[in-house]
Formats: sequence, C-alpha cells, structure tokens
Amino acid sequence: MKKINLKSHYDVIIVGSGPSGLGAAFKIAESSNLSVLLVEKKKISSGGLRNDCKQNYTYPVGFPFEHWEKEEANELLEEVKTHLNPKMETRQNIQKYMQRAAKIGVEILSIDQAHVGTDKSSELIGSLINKLENLGVEVALHTEVAYLYKDKKALHVKDGEDISFSHIILAPGRADYDWMQEQMDTLEVSYSDNIVDIGIRVETKEENYPIVRDYYDPKILFPNKVRTFCTNSGCAHIVKEKYKGYFSVNGHSLSRENERNNLVNFAMLKTIRLTEPVVSGQQFGKILGEMVMQLSGGSVIMQRVGDFRMGSRSKKETFNSDLYDFEPTLKSAVAADLSLSMPAKILRDIWKALKMLDTIIPGVLHPSTILYYPEIKTYSNKPNFIDKNFMVKEGYYIIGDGAGTSRGITAAWASGIRAAKGILEKIS
Ligand SMILES: Cc1cc2nc3c(=O)[nH]c(=O)nc-3n(C[C@H](O)[C@H](O)[C@H](O)COP(=O)(O)OP(=O)(O)OC[C@H]3O[C@@H](n4cnc5c(N)ncnc54)[C@H](O)[C@@H]3O)c2cc1C
Repeated sequence: MKKINLKSHYDVIIVGSGPSGLGAAFKIAESSNLSVLLVEKKKISSGGLRNDCKQNYTYPVGFPFEHWEKEEANELLEEVKTHLNPKMETRQNIQKYMQRAAKIGVEILSIDQAHVGTDKSSELIGSLINKLENLGVEVALHTEVAYLYKDKKALHVKDGEDISFSHIILAPGRADYDWMQEQMDTLEVSYSDNIVDIGIRVETKEENYPIVRDYYDPKILFPNKVRTFCTNSGCAHIVKEKYKGYFSVNGHSLSRENERNNLVNFAMLKTIRLTEPVVSGQQFGKILGEMVMQLSGGSVIMQRVGDFRMGSRSKKETFNSDLYDFEPTLKSAVAADLSLSMPAKILRDIWKALKMLDTIIPGVLHPSTILYYPEIKTYSNKPNFIDKNFMVKEGYYIIGDGAGTSRGITAAWASGIRAAKGILEKIS
C-alpha cells in the first residue's frame, strides 16, 4: 500500500472514510482550495459501504427526524447520487401488499433503492478514493487517530506524530462508539446514548417471501416500533459480526452476477428508548449480546419457526430434518431457544409483527423459517450540537451513524455534505 508523508497541519482533517467522511471530503474538495486530510484506520472503509451497500434514496429512510427535514434531505440525496451513480432497482406489484398491510395497521414504505453487493463494493470505494486523491485530498489509509488534544486543535496519530488542524470532522461510525465517547469527554462535549435496536434476523426460502421479486428491500413498519430492515435476496447469506464482548448477526447479498441461492434474509428490529437508571443503548445491547454468548458457548443462536411455535428448543440433530428443508447459511449459529434469551417485551412485539407479516405475505412463517438472534444496532452517542451543521465546538464537527445524524449510507453521506457546508460557510 502507498504510504504518504503527512504534513504537520491541514485546514481540514476528516477522521473516518465511511460514507459520512467521504461526503464531507468530496464537498470540501470540490468547493474550495482547503488542504484536506482523510484518515482511515483500516485498509478500506468499513461499514455498509463495504458490506452489501444497499442505498436508500427516499426520505425518511436513514434520516433521523430530529435532524432532517424532507426538503433538505431530498436536495442532498440528489448530490449523493452524483457520486454514487446508483442504478435503481425496480418496484412493482406492491399494491396488493400495501392494501393488506393497511387493513391491519401496518405501513409499507415505497423507497427508491440501489444495490451494489459485497463482492463489488470495494471497487466502488477504490474509485471514490481515487477521485478524491485526484481532487487533491490526501488520503491516509491504515492510519489510526489515537486521540485528540483538549487544549489545542491537534490530534495524535497512533505510532506517529501530532497533526494540527483548523477544522476537524469526526466520522468514526457506530463500531467505534467508545473511542468517540473518549474524545467527547476530552473535548468536554456533552452527549446521550439512549436508543438501541434489538431484534432477530429471519432466513427463509424466497418462495416464502416472494415480495422481494418485486421490491428489493421492503421497508415495513409495524406497531410498537418494530420494522423490517436490510433485506437480502438473490445470493443471500447471514454473517456474525464481532463487537466488543459479543456477536451480532447481519445479512449480506452478492451482486446480481452471482448464482442465486433462493434464500432471503431480513431483520425484524424493535427500537428501544431507554430511560433512567439504564441510559446507555450500547451498554444494554452489550448485556443482551453477552447473555447470548453465555447461552451459545460464544456464538449466536438460531431456532426454526416450527420449534418456536411448539415451545421447544431447536436441536442440532433435527435442525435439518423433515420440513426443515434448507440449511442455515450461518453454520456457526447454535440451535437453541429464542425465548430463553430475549427479553419478553421485545420477543412479544417482534413475534406479533411477524404474524402480521405472515398475514400480508403468507408463508413467511413456514416451519422451516429460521430466526437468528441477536441482531443489535447500537446507534450513537448523540452529541449536543451547537449549530445545524453538526458543530459541537468551534471548529469541531461530529457526523454519521456514530453521532446519530444518520442511519444508513445515503443519509451518512448527506451528513458529511452538511458538515462540509458548515466549514465552507465559516471560511467564506
Ligand atoms: C455489515 C453492515 C452492513 C450494512 N449494510 C448497509 C446497507 O446495505 N445499506 C445502508 O444504508 N447501511 C448499511 N449499514 C449501515 C451503514 O454502514 C452506516 O449507516 C454507514 O456506513 C454510516 O456511515 P459512517 O460514515 O457514519 O460510518 P462508517 O461507515 O462506519 O465509517 C466509519 C469509518 O471510520 C473509521 N474509523 C473509526 N475510528 C477511527 C479512528 N480512530 N481513526 C481512523 N479511522 C477511524 C472506521 O474504520 C470506518 O471505516 C451496514 C452496516 C454494517 C455494519
């Protein structure tokens, strides 16, 4: 990998090359002559741009209401498109599902979507980084920002030097929430972290969930803050991701060029807003994740719907027998009992939502359908912003999923544009 010599000062430093960092970098590079350094601790940006890369282009998907009005989001989404060049998926024949849903108090959102696929996403990221370099942005990959200083506008690079800046945009994503908390403590920026999404990932045969043939990633909203999230089909599989202290499941699909495996997976998530005395979503997610680690011997669990309905745990010996006629794509998940692992309120609301889904799309609760647990989305440390461009302190901006300004690729990119606009306004 190309190693660059870093300068001792930049007008703007952006930490994190996920979509929010990229959005900020493009905006500043295309609109000014400021010197810009983009720092990324991995070899390639992590997060959703690298994995699967489904892009949603309809407000409000991905845009938290507290920060975004429809008009501004739509305007910035047009700008996002000029960089990501989405090829929109078609959406058809969904009227019948919408009518059934409306009858039982469920809403199906109609969303413009594009999908890149895990096998193609690094190509996209590589070309974005090349374009940035051609615009004069210095991109330091495999370079980790260790910490920021309290009393000077400077940061320390791990195993490296101090670098000073006039403006900094922190865009470290969700996974590095504890790093973000440490920096906010240093900078004396106050924040809260009281929301978490907890749920399951459903895997079934495509014939049991045929809506995906007409609508790539159906966004369905159920009562009690339950929703579908991140549907994968075509060549779809489930993975487990390592977080600090536990694993969470997630879904992927490859691009259309790959052979179909005729499986579908999607998450059913319930949003939980915590109040005193537990106010940390990250902490709550970790407690639940650690419990599953204990019960599964260090993995995640899975249960067939047929067993779940009978109140019996799924067992390894019978997991693939009789009606259970497709194999799980996440082989390392442990056959177990969902109701022993999941808080009752979450399980009740998700099961009710699944039954509603089965009314709208009959078949999804076939006995063979597999429910994996846990899927945990810890959102953010919500900093207290002092202006609408996500500034937390003069010259300091915090954006993206890690700051609660977005919940998805396109909104993260839009957040980057907004922070960049804040800097451009300051220097004009
Ligand atoms: C497996 C997976 C699949 C997903 N799939 C989708 C999807 O298909 N569609 C969708 O809309 N959303 C998806 N998401 C959500 C999506 O990833 C986020 O909404 C989006 O990436 C948030 O962008 P971000 O820029 O805030 O953070 P991120 O994309 O997480 O980027 C943050 C970057 O900062 C870097 N970083 C962190 N700390 C430091 C440091 N100290 N020094 C230097 N660099 C640092 C990280 O390595 C990372 O590359 C997915 C998430 C995951 C985990």
